[in-house]
Amino acid sequence: MAFEGLASRLQNVFGKLRGKGKLSEEDVNEALREVRLALLEADVNFKVVKDFVAKVKTQAIGQEVMKSFTPGMVVIDIVNKELTALMGGTQSKLARSNRPPTIIMMVGLQGAGKTTTSGKLAKLLQKQNHRPLMVAADIYRPAAIKQLQVLGEQLNVPVFTMGDKVSPVEIAKAGVQHAKDNGSDYVIIDTAGRLHIDESLMDELKNIRADIEPDEILLVVDSMTGQDAVNVAESFHKQLELTGVVLTKLDGDTRGGAALSVKAVTGCPIKFAATGEKLDGLEPFFPDRMASRILGMGDMLSLIEKAQSGIDADKAKEMERKMRNNEFTFEDFLEQMEQVKKLGPLDQILEMLPGANKIKGMKDMKVDDKQMGKVEAIVKSMTTEEKRKPELLNANRRKRIALGSGNSIQEVNRFIKQFEDMRKMMKQFSGMMGNKGGKNNLK
Ligand code: GDP
Repeated sequence: MAFEGLASRLQNVFGKLRGKGKLSEEDVNEALREVRLALLEADVNFKVVKDFVAKVKTQAIGQEVMKSFTPGMVVIDIVNKELTALMGGTQSKLARSNRPPTIIMMVGLQGAGKTTTSGKLAKLLQKQNHRPLMVAADIYRPAAIKQLQVLGEQLNVPVFTMGDKVSPVEIAKAGVQHAKDNGSDYVIIDTAGRLHIDESLMDELKNIRADIEPDEILLVVDSMTGQDAVNVAESFHKQLELTGVVLTKLDGDTRGGAALSVKAVTGCPIKFAATGEKLDGLEPFFPDRMASRILGMGDMLSLIEKAQSGIDADKAKEMERKMRNNEFTFEDFLEQMEQVKKLGPLDQILEMLPGANKIKGMKDMKVDDKQMGKVEAIVKSMTTEEKRKPELLNANRRKRIALGSGNSIQEVNRFIKQFEDMRKMMKQFSGMMGNKGGKNNLK
């Protein structure tokens, strides 16, 4: 998970603060020392960390905070706001030209994920009922054109190519014309990368830019490279005046330094975050939601949106109400598991739930078909009353359920434990909804 180390460290620090009725200046200083270390360890740019801590400190040591009834929560709120600001404040949306097609130039070093991200972006646009065209302007990497064509076939998105004997500038220009002639409203131009930044690459990109006047120049950077990604972004931005950054491989980046420093160092907003090699792994980047996730406040908004796109909205609402009122039953659990299967990998879903990372058993809970079958059998072996009141499940009842469902008692116990943990987490969440930090999070 992205930000794993940082999230758990910050949550530890704030766990301590939250419990305190009164905060001394020393408490705040101590907490901020730990925040500083946590950020540095997450590979956040040194200067960015320094400014960040200074900003939080000025606000946290203010009179208002110290006088507040829940000073710990106020400090967390300040950190939340500053983290959000650090990552750009508000969402920076993809441009949309008044005179279609909107031209998007994808740039970046080789291996950063440019071609894959072009495909992901095409898919995202397609989902929003746009008609994207992808243009293969990387004539140097032997497989690049083919790769884009394969992506296009998978997505049913047209790909414009002219082979590798024509100059990238010509290809880009002809590609834009092709989009105009064929009614495509977005053109995504996959340009060439290099292993390192070099002058000829920059010249080529500048020439393309001058010729086609793109609405967006998106730099694709590999977030796993941490501060290198930030340096690359800085160089590209100086030369090309980027309009946005796409962070890829966030799935593998446990530290998160690039995501936290790119905007502050370059001034260029992060527009998308990419995860995984599958084509649906691209999401608009929301600084506030990301900050909430890092601070363990969860990202219910993204989760709910995700649910609404793939799932019956009424059901999702009803589930949310049940979670809030602590009325979640085993039957709901079963139904939820079915729905979750449609949402994608469970670990990604868990990241969005507040406090989920604190619950040990949750991480090991795999939603595969075999497991689903087992869980289903267990739940179906319960009486209606048991399904609604897990506390009824004593040793005898568990034994009966194990026999009835063809599972061992240990398996039944493990599942019930996971269920109870989940209920606890939901209760915790409803607690957070009731306080200031939680509400802000759901604005
Ligand atoms: P390009 O040279 O910049 O065009 O890079 P590619 O699109 O060919 O990607 C390089 C490698 O990174 C490929 O193996 C991709 O499957 C992989 N990749 C791209 N984006 C992501 C991502 O968000 N997460 C993960 N885990 N892998 C990615």
